[in-house]
Amino acid sequence: MTDTVNCTAIEYVVNPEPKALKKMSDKKMYKERKANIAVFRGCKFNCCYCAFKNTLRFNTECPDCLTFTPHVHWESLTKTPPKTKDGEFITIGLNGDISFATDTQISSFLKYCKEWGDRNFMIQTKDPRRLCGWNMYIPKNVTIGTTIESDYPQLFKRKLIEPKIVDNRIISDYELLIYSDISKAPFPEKRYEAMQCLRVHNKIALTIEPILEFNIDNFIKWIKVLTPLEYLWIGYDSKPEINHLPEPPLAKTQQFIKRLEDAGISVHQKLMRLAWYETELIQELQCDTFHKIMEDK
Ligand code: SF4
Ligand SMILES: [Zn+2]
Repeated sequence: MTDTVNCTAIEYVVNPEPKALKKMSDKKMYKERKANIAVFRGCKFNCCYCAFKNTLRFNTECPDCLTFTPHVHWESLTKTPPKTKDGEFITIGLNGDISFATDTQISSFLKYCKEWGDRNFMIQTKDPRRLCGWNMYIPKNVTIGTTIESDYPQLFKRKLIEPKIVDNRIISDYELLIYSDISKAPFPEKRYEAMQCLRVHNKIALTIEPILEFNIDNFIKWIKVLTPLEYLWIGYDSKPEINHLPEPPLAKTQQFIKRLEDAGISVHQKLMRLAWYETELIQELQCDTFHKIMEDK
């Protein structure tokens, strides 16, 4: 559901700052990941940016893999997981979301991790509430991860419509987009609440990827509440030309990362680039460099 809202949403000031255009890229999902135990596959959250749906299409022998319907592949648990060093892990069910698994299935996944107690595992879900019932029974070699793309309950999708320069500022319109237009997963705030519960007895990790617009003070507050984190990844969407997500400008993300690091929080940077609308502006206005000023909503 989208509504068009006419307003001066975005302002930019042309300001040569070559560093702002430096592209830092790491397209690998997690470089710390040694392997994935694909025992659970498929998901119904239908995130518009999902990178996993297409990874199962090669398995033409399984109709559920083809349609990304949640299901198990028990044969994956018969394999010996590779050894892991400190700072490495093996994911369980990365090609889907284990929140759609039954209680019995989740118990089996946790039992497998416990049996291989000298390996490090990561179980990631966009509905960590599903694991709160196991809070005290999750093996010590398992880290629970979730994605929190933003601290907003709903988001603005930015769309530039014939941007104009007025007094050295670029003015444009935008569309309003609610979070459920992006993903049917529980709102990021619900994941944040569940992680507060899980962190009491478990190691936790957070990925802010793809990063979406956020309130910098509030989001930093959330992250501080969840520390210590085993990992904190931050990165942009890898398909901006298709998804046109409501993402923050690069300068704001860089400021966010700096403030986290200044607070002693280690950040693993993934794909860092200009927001898609910044790139389009450069092309449209043929500016070499610019600095963006965001109106605080
Ligand atoms: S929660 Fe993960 S697996 Fe499910 S649709 Fe979203 S990105 Fe894909
Ligand atoms: Zn399958």
